[in-house]
Amino acid sequence: MDGTLPRPISLPQMHAPHPETWLKTTPRGLYVEPGDFYIDPTAPSDRAVITHGHSDHARGGHRHVLATAQTLSIMRLRMGDEAGRQQQALQYGESLTIKDVTLRLIPAGHVLGSAQVVLEYRGSRAVVSGDYKRRRDPTCPPFDVQSCDVFVTEATFALPIFKHPDDKDEIAKLLQSVQLFPERAHLVGVYALGKAQRVIMLLREAGYDAPIWLHGALVGLCELYRSSGLDLGEFRHVGDMPKSGLVGQIVLAPPSAIEDRWSRRLPDAVNCAASGWLRVKQRAKQRGLELPLVISDHADWDELNATLDEVGAPEVWVTHGREEALIHAASQRGIRTRALSLIGFEDEDPV
Ligand SMILES: [Zn+2]
Ligand SMILES: [Zn+2]
Repeated sequence: MDGTLPRPISLPQMHAPHPETWLKTTPRGLYVEPGDFYIDPTAPSDRAVITHGHSDHARGGHRHVLATAQTLSIMRLRMGDEAGRQQQALQYGESLTIKDVTLRLIPAGHVLGSAQVVLEYRGSRAVVSGDYKRRRDPTCPPFDVQSCDVFVTEATFALPIFKHPDDKDEIAKLLQSVQLFPERAHLVGVYALGKAQRVIMLLREAGYDAPIWLHGALVGLCELYRSSGLDLGEFRHVGDMPKSGLVGQIVLAPPSAIEDRWSRRLPDAVNCAASGWLRVKQRAKQRGLELPLVISDHADWDELNATLDEVGAPEVWVTHGREEALIHAASQRGIRTRALSLIGFEDEDPV
């Protein structure tokens, strides 16, 4: 024996296929070839896996739809028979094999039921994160960090100017204004799925326990959130309530209702809206908002970058939004990047 350690025997290398050989960009969105299904397809498809209920991701007319039970009920509420001829629910963390692919849904922290799709094929793993955020949201479980070979990310707010403030401070501004103007109503423009229910929960957490008034377009989704176990407190449909009954009240409505005749039924409304876009002051001005609230259901610039670092994937694909800045920042840190430039995904709430 000459004292040297035996050379390790090199094991035969398992060559996992690169995700770009099996996860393909097509005109209707991401296609998982060895499983023969699409993720959030933009046209009616035979098999669709849906990340969440927003209308740019959950479209009607698919034959078979796989999603979380909450996303499936949101789809049924919004599109009835168009929600998919066959629906299959998968719980967070449960795994399912579709042909040669193993799939899991894990929380994305975006809205009720929102999921990232974890895909595994012959030792290669990709995560399609859909839309996501990293802040605490009382209406859904937090984003789950999953390591992978390729991480597919959105880039809605991928510019350094987008830094979302603390949502508690934004809600405090609303409550201060309600105190300051007790003779007026406060009309808050909110997107119907996710933002409305989050704003209600934040108001409850801040101690506001009066009934919250809703535009008819928000009632169904608030009821759905309540039936899934969320205590939104008392909410009421504005309906034919006379102006006098809405003095000093908080009213939630879709953002479009602010400029609509509908808002005239409110007593001297203070126009507010809750959106990540309101970081851009010009947007608030254009919409005639007196009280813009910067509350977003997407990750901001720092959170997008921190997420790429935490997930630690050597390669990141960017689906939609402001890809260039994020691609530049990620490349600087040695992450391989690719812009997928998927068409048909827009922020639904361009306030
Ligand atoms: Zn979304
Ligand atoms: Zn989206």
